[in-house]
Amino acid sequence: MTLSGKAKLAGVIGWPVSHSLSPVLHGHWLAEHGIDGAMVPLAAGREDFSAVIEGVRRAGFAGVNVTVPHKESAFAIAHSVDAAAQGAGAANLLIFRNGKIEGRNTDAVGLAESLRENIGTLKGKNVVLLGAGGAARGAILGLEMLGAASIHLLNRDLHRAKTLAASLAPQVKAPVHPGSLDDWKKVAGDAALVVNSTSAGMGANPPLDIDLGALSKEAAVCDMIYNPLETKLLKDAGARGHKTIDGLGMLMHQAVPSFEAFFGVKPAVTPALRAMLAKVLGANT
Ligand code: NDP
Repeated sequence: MTLSGKAKLAGVIGWPVSHSLSPVLHGHWLAEHGIDGAMVPLAAGREDFSAVIEGVRRAGFAGVNVTVPHKESAFAIAHSVDAAAQGAGAANLLIFRNGKIEGRNTDAVGLAESLRENIGTLKGKNVVLLGAGGAARGAILGLEMLGAASIHLLNRDLHRAKTLAASLAPQVKAPVHPGSLDDWKKVAGDAALVVNSTSAGMGANPPLDIDLGALSKEAAVCDMIYNPLETKLLKDAGARGHKTIDGLGMLMHQAVPSFEAFFGVKPAVTPALRAMLAKVLGANT
């Protein structure tokens, strides 16, 4: 099957994929711009990834958003990748163009735009990044985009933090200091921003056990988790008077370049979009 010249299709591929907000997010923008198109959820396990990508390419899809567990496979399948995907070793966006597959990673720009909107530049400022998993790679590149002066990368597994800091060192100007979560009290006092990129506090996971009393009053606290929208970390930080930034801003901003690539229009991140997604997430706004 190939598509008619008018309808535009894109997909989101993952396993599971039912939790993905991409279809509603892109659906909102498609309606807003009166575009005859759709964002189709593609449930595919690891073994089906290549076949599904081949199938939707042949069907005329413009591209796919890529979620867990396929970001590394997406990077590997791409004929070319942008600097962010290269740095992350993972792609969350595949664009099908002229018979080729372009891989991009929009997580870094998503976090950078969300932080810029809330707190502006990070020039001259120290940041503590908690977690050294897949999301932390993009987070470091995003903090670099905003000009962070230094990044303390703290992880439960110190070895993982060291490996990540070493692998990103050639691409980031800011020094990235690896440490364990036990180093929190030593480094928190100098931080203008702390970003949680761990999965602690997501869904039913127990929250991170850190003492926010170690932070300066002016420090902002960002949680990349968006489910729940207000994590215990953000609730506690808000109660102490810190500026808080949830993970929904990053999620919305990282979708902007993919919508533009698929449907040819740069969409806006608006309060109406946030309210709609917050409702879907079942959060109280
Ligand atoms: P990974 O599984 O790759 O990494 C998980 C990280 O969390 C590791 O650093 C792990 O530490 C740490 N961790 C897990 N449990 C605990 C705990 N109890 N205490 C301390 N540290 C813990 O996950 P990702 O990096 O892919 O994703 C992390 C989070 O970021 C998820 O909640 C995800 O939803 C969110 N995210 C949000 C995005 C957005 O757009 N807002 C985009 C991408 C991700 P260790 O190495 O020691 O195991």
